[in-house]
Amino acid sequence: MDCTSSEHLFQRACKVIPGGVNSPVRAFRGVGGTPRFLERGEGCRVVDVDGNRYLDYLGSWGPLILGHAHPAVVSKIQAVASQGTSFGAPTEREVALAEKVVSLVPSAEMVRLVNSGTEATMTALRLARGYTQRDLVVKFEGCYHGHVDSFLVKAGSGVATLGIPGSPGVPEAVAGLTLSLPYNDAAALEKTFERYGDRIAAVVCEPVAGNMGVVVPRPEFLSALCETAETHGALVIFDEVITGFRLALGGAQERFGLRPHLTCLGKILGGGLPLGAVAGKAEVLQHLAPEGPVYQAGTLSGNPLAVAAGLKTLELLEADPPYARLEQLTSRLCRGIEEAAAECGVPVQISRCGSMFTVFFSRLPVTDFRSAVASDVKRYARFFHGLLGRGVYLAPSQFETCFVSCAHDERVVEETIDAARAVFASLA
Ligand code: PMP
Repeated sequence: MDCTSSEHLFQRACKVIPGGVNSPVRAFRGVGGTPRFLERGEGCRVVDVDGNRYLDYLGSWGPLILGHAHPAVVSKIQAVASQGTSFGAPTEREVALAEKVVSLVPSAEMVRLVNSGTEATMTALRLARGYTQRDLVVKFEGCYHGHVDSFLVKAGSGVATLGIPGSPGVPEAVAGLTLSLPYNDAAALEKTFERYGDRIAAVVCEPVAGNMGVVVPRPEFLSALCETAETHGALVIFDEVITGFRLALGGAQERFGLRPHLTCLGKILGGGLPLGAVAGKAEVLQHLAPEGPVYQAGTLSGNPLAVAAGLKTLELLEADPPYARLEQLTSRLCRGIEEAAAECGVPVQISRCGSMFTVFFSRLPVTDFRSAVASDVKRYARFFHGLLGRGVYLAPSQFETCFVSCAHDERVVEETIDAARAVFASLA
């Protein structure tokens, strides 16, 4: 596979962009080698600057549930762009998108639009602190909630990939207000609340973890979390930046029948353009400025292009919900990969929920961050590059989620399983 143009671009990039990329995991540090510079996407495939084509399981890290360059989304963006790209004044489509979120997400009564998942979690945290007048926040090890100071404590995603426990630049005084607990451990949460309950503003949680690789919640974990927080007067924040509109139209909260006080949204919400949101109980959201005293703002918030792409995406998902098909397709893919690994004697644990999955190179079940990081990351790197060389693009780190989109079908899934079998054979 010729990657000369990607290599040249990466050399140029490294001179003017730290690490050559604008978001760390793109640099392939978790798997080695040169990142591919992508030129275009078509449905379930991407094409790099050297003309290599890949079956894409990254989906831009989650937003592209409809696949790349969906014609209806693209033409909506084009039409809206010709009327102006930003006004800094309210527009009708923002109201329509907020109404859509309220109608789809079970716990959403009001919505504030922001520009990214990070802004959504940052806003949710400030709001929870302002509403409860408490300072502490509980998060779970290996969960990633964007690059907000308070959440860069034992975080997942790139923080886990690069093996850094926290981040220089986050003052200890700030990090000290974050309590980080093992995922899936309701007893540890209970104990923490017994000790600090009257100081905890919120518990923030990925209802299905995606940023240490997929880790599925134990059945009782999320409901116990909601009950414990409620008992102690703390807010529950579901970070559904990945799971929102991915696991169901109403996200993980619909799937598990739970109602957090606040929900963070991003990724699919913007249909591939920068958009995030905090949604939740009106009583809490009304504390945001200008209605309430908790300040939050944004020059480009509710940007017409992002809102149009997001609204069109949600309308398409609602008109023809793909979730049963995605479940079936991803389940077939994971079963096929598992069988191929077994045939070749390579121990793997495949974690899956809906159309999110991770192939962990481990003999032991993965239920939390500790068991996730026990995986053989060197083997994952060889698996990743073996597949990349065969034209299949997975997440470039063991500690990330792969995604199946509506543009994938049975044929490409079988193609992927065959490629995986060939790679496992070379790993055995
Ligand atoms: N929360 C979760 C669960 C995420 O996965 C991410 C990003 N992967 C974020 C928040 C941050 O979103 P963004 O990258 O849009 O700031």
